[in-house]
Amino acid sequence: MASEQEVRQYLAYWFQLGKKVFIGKGHTMLPQPVIRGDRYSQEFEDCWRLLLSPDSGDCYLEGTEETITEMLTPAWEVSPCARCDMPIPIRNIGMPPLFCPCNDLSNWPNTEVPAPRAPISTQRQLMDIRTRLLEGSGQ
Ligand SMILES: [Zn+2]
Repeated sequence: MASEQEVRQYLAYWFQLGKKVFIGKGHTMLPQPVIRGDRYSQEFEDCWRLLLSPDSGDCYLEGTEETITEMLTPAWEVSPCARCDMPIPIRNIGMPPLFCPCNDLSNWPNTEVPAPRAPISTQRQLMDIRTRLLEGSGQ
């Protein structure tokens, strides 16, 4: 099952490549910026809340058919695309999706532009490094 964290990251990555999300009947959203400092932007959080609201109806990323609510059920997982490594929904009973949303991006994958990313907390990174060092030294 895809966790909320994974689905948030999935959306955040695709928003950074300019993919919109369809909300209910034909309304679209593309929050910008996606990341502010070391966290998701207020615009992103507002969009996320809207996506989870039962009033919003079916919400899905442009170029995909899996709704966000479907992705949060046990039938779905988020895995890297075979072509571009971007996160894509995979049905975990063995059915691959028709295609990755990257299929209509002619300029993707592109190693010359910064890759989409998740917010990084410097404090958290330092703690991780510290933990690894402590483990490595056997203390
Ligand atoms: Zn792809």
